[in-house]
Formats: sequence, C-alpha cells, structure tokens
Amino acid sequence: MPITKEQITEQLRKVNDPELHRDLVTLNMVKKVGYCDGIVSLTIELTTPACPLKDKIKADIEAALHALGDEIKTINIEFTAQVQQSPQSKAAQNNPVPGVKNIIAVGAGKGGVGKSTIALNIAVGLARAGASVGLLDGDIYGPSMPTLLGLAGMELKGHNNRFIPFEVHGIKAMTIGVMVEPEKPLIWRGPMAHGAFRDLATRTEWGTLDYLVIDLPPGTGDVPLTMSQILPLTGAVVVCTPQKVAQDDARRAVRMFQQLDIEVLGVVENMSYFIGDDGKEYDIFGRGGAETMAQEMGVPFLGTVPINMALRRNSDAGDPTSNFTRDPKLCKELDAVVRNLAGQISVHDMNTQYLQPTISIT
Ligand code: ADP
Repeated sequence: MPITKEQITEQLRKVNDPELHRDLVTLNMVKKVGYCDGIVSLTIELTTPACPLKDKIKADIEAALHALGDEIKTINIEFTAQVQQSPQSKAAQNNPVPGVKNIIAVGAGKGGVGKSTIALNIAVGLARAGASVGLLDGDIYGPSMPTLLGLAGMELKGHNNRFIPFEVHGIKAMTIGVMVEPEKPLIWRGPMAHGAFRDLATRTEWGTLDYLVIDLPPGTGDVPLTMSQILPLTGAVVVCTPQKVAQDDARRAVRMFQQLDIEVLGVVENMSYFIGDDGKEYDIFGRGGAETMAQEMGVPFLGTVPINMALRRNSDAGDPTSNFTRDPKLCKELDAVVRNLAGQISVHDMNTQYLQPTISIT
C-alpha cells in the first residue's frame, strides 16, 4: 500500500513546535501536504520569519516522516511565516496603531548600557529575517536614532497631520531627534514628555507592521507609564551590562514593567565581554551577571552581545546593516538575540490570555 497524505498528516501530529509545545497540525502550521512517488512536499507556516528553531522543526519533521519507511525518498519543506497579532492588540479599544501586530518596548535601568543600540539591531535583525518592522525612538530626552540610523540631511515628511516614518535599513523609523537641534537639551516637564511621546507614537503612519520596537528613555520615568496607557504592548526587553551595579538598576526596570502589567520577554546582556587582538575573550564587567539576574527574576535570557569596536563604529556611522554583513561572529550573536526574542513573542501571542492592565499608584 503506498503512503497516503493522511498518514503523513498523522505523523506531523507527532511533531511539536519546540517552544509552543503543541503539534504542528493542532497549531494549524501545516498549510500544504503533497505526496507523489516517494517525494513529500510540505508547506509549514511559522509564527515568525525569525523563528529560532526552524532547523529543529525541519529535523523533527524529517525524522517523523522517515519513520513511515523506505518508500519516502525526498522531503521538500517550504517554510512561510505569518506573525500573529498580539492578544493585547486584538483586545485594545480605540487602538491608535491597529495595523501593528506586536509592540515591543526596549528599556534599561540606566543610560549608557547600549539600550538604543540593541533596540536598533533588534529592529534591523527582525527586518532582515523577513518581518515588517518599525522603530520608534521613544527616548525623547536623548534621542540617538538620527545618528544610529544615519538620518542626517533627511527631511521629515507629513501627510494629513500625520508623520511619515523614514524608511532606512529595511525598517520604518520615527524619532523626535529630527525635529530638534541636535545639541539643544530637551527639557520636558512631565505632561510635555507625555504629549511628545503620545504624538510620536500615535501620529506616525506606521501602516501594517509585524513588530514595532520602541526605544524607551533609560530608567523608570514618565514615558513607560504613558506608553502602557496608550499602546497595547506585547512585552518588554531589558538591556543590562553584567556588573552588579548595572544589574540592580535592571532589576528595577524589570519590576517597573511587571508593575505596569507588561510581560518581560527577556533580558539582553550587552558589553558582555571583549575579544582582544590576541583572540582571547576578556570578561571585563563579569560576563554572565545579567543571565544570573534574569534567572533569579524568572524572566527569559535572550543572549549576550560582546564589546565590539565595529558595532560602535557602525553605530556612529549610522550603518546598522554592516553589523549583520561584515563580522560573522557579531552577526551570529545579534541574530541569536533577535531570534530568541521573536520566539518569546510567538509564545506570548499563542499563550497569553489578555488581562486588562490596571495601574495602582501608591
Ligand atoms: P543607551 O541607549 O543605553 O544610552 P547607546 O545604545 O546609546 O546606550 O550606547 C552607548 C554607546 O556605547 C554608543 O556609542 C554605542 O555605540 C556604544 N555601544 C553600545 N553597545 C556596544 C557594544 N556591544 N560594543 C561596543 N560599543 C557599544
């Protein structure tokens, strides 16, 4: 008896998505099954183009199908991706950004830990994987995106009283930095900061996006509170350097998000270590500190990024793409952070039952 498509589908019921812990058929990820003369053709729809476990899923499918016997000679798998809309976005009333499926805030306990750098590289990395991505520079006190994105000389455009985002490095981007003189201090009183952030977030023509990454100001001030009130967030990422003092600040950032009912999707350890000209790795700040902190706080750890001169140079030159094209080791490390985050977002979107956030001010 030749193998049937039904038998193949039954085998696929035995393959679990390693992060979602349910089988591919139940998760509705199997979009096409074809079989002819020993050749299986499958279309598998992933929950993100930056899926961190695509190779494992592929290997598990191959093992499950080869278990049907020698008749199967070739397995062709086409992977597609459809990013889910977060439960928060679906449930939001008067959602100011209805076309944005997931909003991810990137925060840090204090300045200078590389929060903006990581936010930008997450955005560019997700876009390079094939997602549609926006980046909002919500660091309204010290907007660095004009430099990091290389926006010098570009003109801000508007339409119908709305901002048109810049399209650079494969992403859409908006920053208050293009509206002010670079060297002038931005002094906001609480309500002004609230208004400026609200305007940027809600009056930008984001269109349809899989992910909108928001670079928050450092610390635990007004902007995260405003953000949580006006935007339906999927979750937050906390950037931290490994030292003990940095961890203490990062803990406060994690707790702030938790108090605002924003899930912490993970911690990134930036400036984790340094590779010298001798090829040796130096743990300048005590590598692993942020990972330990994440474990202690019960939040995922997304990965490490070393101190890397090219990363600093590319940032100053407004050329984030080179981080992914020139230095394979740096690319691998950034990509791991990007993919682990995309995986956590998918898990969140599949598993979370939406609860209306409540803010208690004491
Ligand atoms: P924050 O947003 O936390 O204030 P930035 O992202 O602006 O920090 O980074 C501060 C400075 O450190 C920038 O000059 C940036 O290029 C540099 N930097 C950040 N991360 C790294 C890294 N891993 N290796 C080298 N330089 C880095």
